[in-house]
Amino acid sequence: MRQYTIKETKEISKIICNKCGREIQAANGCLQEDVLSVDKRWGYFSEKDNQVDSFDLCEKCYDEFVATFLFPIGK
Ligand SMILES: [Zn+2]
Repeated sequence: MRQYTIKETKEISKIICNKCGREIQAANGCLQEDVLSVDKRWGYFSEKDNQVDSFDLCEKCYDEFVATFLFPIGK
C-alpha cells in the first residue's frame, strides 16, 4: 500500500520591471537576467509605519536610477 502527500511548489516564471514594464523571463525557476528586488517595511519613525513596499527594476532602469544620485554608489 502506498500513501502520497501532495506538495505544492512555486517557481518564478518571470519578473516585470516596475519602471519600464520589460519582462525578464525565467527558465526552470532561474532568471535569465539579474534584477534589483526591493522589499522595504517602513518603520515607526516614518510616514508609512509598517507599510511594505516591493518593486523590481531591470538592470537598465537600475543604471538610470542610480545615475540620478548626487553621490555615486559605492563599488
Ligand atoms: Zn526596466
